[in-house]
Amino acid sequence: MTDRPKLIAGNWKMNGTAAALAEIAAMADAARDLPGHVTVAVCPPATLIDRARAAAGDGPLVIGAQDVHAAADGAFTGCVSAAMLNDAGARLVIVGHSERRADCHETDADIRAKAEAVQAAGMTAIVCVGETAAQRDAGTTLTVIGGQLDGSLPASAAGLAVAYEPVWAIGSGLTPTIAQVGGIHAAIRTNLVARYGDAGEGVSILYGGSVKPANAAELLAVADVDGALVGGASLTAADFLAIVRAA
Ligand code: PEP
Repeated sequence: MTDRPKLIAGNWKMNGTAAALAEIAAMADAARDLPGHVTVAVCPPATLIDRARAAAGDGPLVIGAQDVHAAADGAFTGCVSAAMLNDAGARLVIVGHSERRADCHETDADIRAKAEAVQAAGMTAIVCVGETAAQRDAGTTLTVIGGQLDGSLPASAAGLAVAYEPVWAIGSGLTPTIAQVGGIHAAIRTNLVARYGDAGEGVSILYGGSVKPANAAELLAVADVDGALVGGASLTAADFLAIVRAA
């Protein structure tokens, strides 16, 4: 068992303009005083990445992105490459969020290609997996997640994190039980070790889905929960830092 640090990453989704940079600055200030085992990251919309990087100054707050195109360049109107995100100041990229899997029809193969593009640019890819309510109710959660891992994980474990995000828990205020989170994270760990060998022990597995200040400590204490991917509660420094401090 590797001693993995905790990664708390905020996903701002399609929220935030220049007025929100004050929240990033406040998060960056607080990040300077965090214990060494905690890394904190914020993924604003692509339009804010370079300004977020500037607002964060030279402290340890990591700025990330929410999506990427798999190609290096070319005729892809409206898209952004991994090198462009890196150039703007991003150091990690969320790929395969359930909203993109559902709304943008992203396939496992698309997500794997995106993750590999992120790694090739020297950044960390957070690959998201998780079951819908219907899949949970049908008892297929582990099968669904296993299929997503098989299809979407990149060839290398270097620069990789996985986020387990039950679709039904995102933005709903609902979470699985602590025992369910523990069981699913353990299954993901087994998959990662089978796939990558010892390097699979070093891959962080984040939990995401209605993580709030009130439930963060309990979720982050579960074995193989190496951090959190936080949506709504990452929009304000007050809530996000309360979660970070629970890590
Ligand atoms: C998310 O969208 O990745 C997420 C976890 O959202 P929330 O925390 O708002 O449920």
